Amino acid sequence: MLKNKKLIIANWKMNPTSETKAKKLFLSVKRVSSRLQNIQTVVCPPFLYIKSLANLYKGHRVAVGAQDTFIKNKGSYTGMVSPEMLEDVGCEYVIIGHSERRALGEDNKLVSKKILASVRAGLKVILCVGEQKRDDGAEHFNFLEEQLIASLEGISKNALKNIIVAYEPVWAISDKSKNKAVDSEDIQEMSIFTKKVLSDKYGVKTKLPPIIYGGSVNPNNAKNILENGNVEGLLVGRASLDSKKFNMILKIANEL
Ligand code: PEP
Repeated sequence: MLKNKKLIIANWKMNPTSETKAKKLFLSVKRVSSRLQNIQTVVCPPFLYIKSLANLYKGHRVAVGAQDTFIKNKGSYTGMVSPEMLEDVGCEYVIIGHSERRALGEDNKLVSKKILASVRAGLKVILCVGEQKRDDGAEHFNFLEEQLIASLEGISKNALKNIIVAYEPVWAISDKSKNKAVDSEDIQEMSIFTKKVLSDKYGVKTKLPPIIYGGSVNPNNAKNILENGNVEGLLVGRASLDSKKFNMILKIANEL
């Protein structure tokens, strides 16, 4: 899917507070990312800004993604935004199963239905998985395996080419971690483990989804994570709201 490009995703969450500010941030990211050939940049703004941001760039190096979607494409579902609607306004990617959505009650069953509906609508899915906490035992491996298998329930081998798995340990996400990313050796271990779980489920001959890492990524740790974490990209929250920091991460990734 990525043709050897690193995938760098910005998750803006519920920011910024106006379309004008969103356009300004997007344009400064686009100015840099549209020149970088070794990476694919994806900006995931709030739903409301997707259409206008997608209209600001017509090339392939920067894509726009959503932070969530629904399991149906139309009907009596107050407040929901469907995969087909997203695709129609130029959205190419969608984050599904982010820990902040799971904290609001989203379970693996709902996540798997959202993945199915999104892939059917032609969107590329960024499936977020990751343990809540970690201790000296191996419980986080079991948690990750269960979450991954359950989130991919009913997802065919064929659909895998449109899925990216983002390993995001919840405790490392910036609000909780005071900006401490996981060690690159631990990321490498979890990436290898994730690939093993996927190949056990789908067969060793299947081309597996790219694994990316998210959790307190910043310009100081991005190089180490990409070089030593055995991941094909980054999901960036807080640092993606600062165009200077995010553009530095993009340039670092492009150089590797
Ligand atoms: C996230 O919440 O997806 C995330 C990676 O956030 P941060 O980079 O702020 O830890």
